[in-house]
Amino acid sequence: MNIYSDPTFDMACRQLDRVAARLGMSESERERLKAPKRSLVVAVPVRMDDGTLRVYSGYRVQHHLTLGPTKGGIRYHPEVSLGEVAALAMWMSWKCALAGLPYGGAKGGVAVDPRRLSAGELERLTRRFTQELVGFIGPQLDIPAPDMGTNEQTMAWMMDTFSVHAGYSVPGVVTGKPVGLGGSLGRREATGRGVAYLAGRAMDTLGLQASGGTAVVQGYGNVGAIAAQSLSRQGLRILAVSDVNGGIHNERGLDMPRVDAWALEHGTLRGFPDADPMTNAELLELPCDVLAPCAMERQITGANAARLRCRILAEGANGPTTPEADALLEARDDVFVVPDILCNAGGVVVSYFEWVQGLQSFFWTESEVMDRLFRILEGAYNQTLQLARRDKISMRTAALTLGIRRVWEAKRVRGLFP
Ligand code: NAD
Repeated sequence: MNIYSDPTFDMACRQLDRVAARLGMSESERERLKAPKRSLVVAVPVRMDDGTLRVYSGYRVQHHLTLGPTKGGIRYHPEVSLGEVAALAMWMSWKCALAGLPYGGAKGGVAVDPRRLSAGELERLTRRFTQELVGFIGPQLDIPAPDMGTNEQTMAWMMDTFSVHAGYSVPGVVTGKPVGLGGSLGRREATGRGVAYLAGRAMDTLGLQASGGTAVVQGYGNVGAIAAQSLSRQGLRILAVSDVNGGIHNERGLDMPRVDAWALEHGTLRGFPDADPMTNAELLELPCDVLAPCAMERQITGANAARLRCRILAEGANGPTTPEADALLEARDDVFVVPDILCNAGGVVVSYFEWVQGLQSFFWTESEVMDRLFRILEGAYNQTLQLARRDKISMRTAALTLGIRRVWEAKRVRGLFP
């Protein structure tokens, strides 16, 4: 039995199979690209505030080392598993290659609900997990970053724990650090701003005006909240947003600064006045110009894809759309998809900038960071659109083809090791 066996890993493999067949890749080369280079599974014992001991499972998967160190986020979520982490690592590989970054993909996580832990418990969990990763991560080896359920504070604890082992400060071991510790200006906002930028480019492509347009965002975390605010600043009316507790909806448009203040004060969107409650499932089916799923994978499936009523699906989350849903969307031909590995690449692009700035000890202004980010996203968007049009394939197949082909070609010229 394959140790990575999992619905999300299966989804990533099916995407790879489809592109490999188009590229004429041999069976053995395809198997090589599917198999993660190496994985670590660790027990993370944590002393809880009440004196009891709990043991959590932690994972880190490095998909390939062909183009440089590996790069990818750390997720804290109850459903984290080896297979899910492996799928996310594979997608990171294609994403980095599509954006032209000198990295392989990685991902890590702990199966835990961070909302149920105190700040002290989270710190002990993070430090112990990092200690288990010493030897497996490092600025030239594998560089973690935040993902669902983790943030700048998590990265500060990881960097500190790693540095204690090294005997000197090693800021380059993680990205997404607080700016005061060597983080990059603009990193926190990069993924959400990238999502909004590319949704705007998709609107241009379809001849839609931002002003007077409408958007719906699932997931009001780091990616979703910034994407919603940026889309609102671009002139779109935000009809609905949601978090794990459900959505809020106002057909006239939500007052985004007030939504933000409410989420900050209450830790949830629930109860926001001037909006009606709505389930996450209903929210996905609202008519709108831009639908941005920015929460979990496998939200748009064979069961609901035919009922989407957006013009543009801007995938802020990783893997929000299943292959069954993809087939339905391709057949419909009225939904323009900005696929995850392109749409949410802003985060890893600015993580790369943070790593480069840290290695040089030379830091850039926020406008330098954003200019360079949008230039890279623009290039990746144009290449993807061009290939999709030329070969009459979906935007997802085009983006995956560009990413997978670069890794495949690099492996061919390097040989068997990486
Ligand atoms: P986050 O933890 O900051 O926020 C996640 C949000 O999703 C929260 O509002 C949470 O309440 C909500 N949520 C969780 N489960 C949900 C569910 N079942 N239905 C609806 N909402 C739900 O996480 P994030 O960093 O914003 O990451 C979100 C997605 O974006 C993930 O797929 C992640 O892999 C991807 N992503 C993140 C980054 C980054 O820089 N943080 C970069 C690229 C991709």
